[in-house]
Amino acid sequence: MIEQLIAISIYFLQDKEIIKEILDFQKNENENIDSIMRSEKFACKEGCYYCCIGWDVKGTIPEMMLVVNSLNRLNDDEKFEIAKRLEKFKQIKNFDDVPCPLLDNGNCIVYESRPFICRTFSSYDENLCKNKISFEFPEVVQKAVEYSKESIDKLDDFFKPLFNTKIRLSDILFNKEKRLFYINIADTALIYLNDGNVEVLKGEYAKKYLK
Ligand code: SF4
Repeated sequence: MIEQLIAISIYFLQDKEIIKEILDFQKNENENIDSIMRSEKFACKEGCYYCCIGWDVKGTIPEMMLVVNSLNRLNDDEKFEIAKRLEKFKQIKNFDDVPCPLLDNGNCIVYESRPFICRTFSSYDENLCKNKISFEFPEVVQKAVEYSKESIDKLDDFFKPLFNTKIRLSDILFNKEKRLFYINIADTALIYLNDGNVEVLKGEYAKKYLK
C-alpha cells in the first residue's frame, strides 16, 4: 500500500487539480451518506456528544483532507488552539473519557466534514451512549457502508488506496508559519487545503529521492 500511496503522492505533486476532484467526490459521498442516515429517526441531536469521547477518530485520506479544509477556515486563534489540543492528543495513550480535540462546547467544529465513522455513529437510545452500554448499530449503517464500498469500487484503481487507507485525527499536522493544517501522505506529498485552494509540497521522501 505504501508504494501505491507514494505513486499517488507523486501524481499530486505534478497535478494538484485532481485533488479538487477527489474532494468534490468525497463531499458528494458525505451528502449521500447523510441522506441514507436521515431515513431513520435516531436519538442523536445537536449538543449530544457521548460518541465524541474516548477515541482518536479515523478517516480515509480524502475524508481527512476535508477535515483539514474545514480546520483551515477557522481564525488564527482558533487554529492555534486546535493545534495545541492535537499536539496534546498525540501524547495520549488511553483515550477513555478523553474528548475529541475537535469538540467545542458540545459541538463538532468540523461537523460538515466529519468522517464516515462520526457521520454514521447513531443510536436510538441516548442512555446507551451515556452509560457506555454496548449496542448493535442500526441496520441503516450497514446500508451506508455498502453504499460507500460500491462508490469506491467504481473509482479508478490507481486512486483507490487513498480511500482504503485510514489515518487518525492526531495525524493532522499544523504549520505555524503558514498558519495552516495539512496532511502528510507517505512522506512524499504534504497537502494543504485552504477553502478551495490546494497546495502540495514535497515531503522528506520526495525531497530525497525525486528531482
Ligand atoms: S470529529 Fe467531530 S463528530 Fe467526530 S468525534 Fe470529533 S467532534 Fe465528534
